[in-house]
Amino acid sequence: MLKAAFPGSFDPPTLGHINIIQRAAAIFDELLVVVAENRRKKYLFSAEERVSIMQKLTVDRDNVTVALCDSLIVDFLQKREIGILLRGVRGLDDFSYEFELSMMNRALDSRIETLFMTTDPKYIVLRSSAIKELASFHGNISNMVPPLVAEALEAKYR
Ligand code: ADP
Repeated sequence: MLKAAFPGSFDPPTLGHINIIQRAAAIFDELLVVVAENRRKKYLFSAEERVSIMQKLTVDRDNVTVALCDSLIVDFLQKREIGILLRGVRGLDDFSYEFELSMMNRALDSRIETLFMTTDPKYIVLRSSAIKELASFHGNISNMVPPLVAEALEAKYR
C-alpha cells in the first residue's frame, strides 16, 4: 500500500493544486491532502473553511482524503504511518525553497521521503497569494480556480 501526503496551506486551493492531487491520486494507492494550520500565519480562509473546500473538491476521488494538521508535518506523518511527503514545484524559486524545507524535514525524520512533482505548464503562474490579490480587485479568476473557490473568494471580497 503506497501512501503519500500532500501538505499545503491551500488558502485557497487553485487548479494547480488540483492538478497535482489528480496526478498523485493516479500514482499512489492513498493520498492524504493535509491542510496546514500555522498559528503564526495569517490566512484568508479559516482552517475549517480550507478543509471543507478541499473535501468538496476531492469528493469524487475514492483514494483521496483530507485532514487538518496544526503540528509539525513530520510528527503528523509519523503518527499516520505515511512515509512520502509530496510537494509541487512551479520552477527554480519553488525548488530552492522546497529543497531547504525537505532538508529540514529530513533532519527531523530521515525515514520520510520528500518527492517533488513538477507543475503542468498550464498552471505554472498560479499562486494562491496572487489569486487572492486579483480577487480582491474583482479580477477574473475563473480559469485559475475551481468554480467553488471562485464563489468563496467572491463572497470574501464582496
Ligand atoms: P505552502 O504554504 O505550504 O507553500 P501552498 O498552498 O502555497 O502551501 O502550496 C502547497 C504545495 O503546492 C506546495 O508544494 C506548492 O509548491 C505547490 N503548488 C502551489 N501552486 C502550484 C501550482 N500552480 N502547480 C504546482 N504546484 C503548486
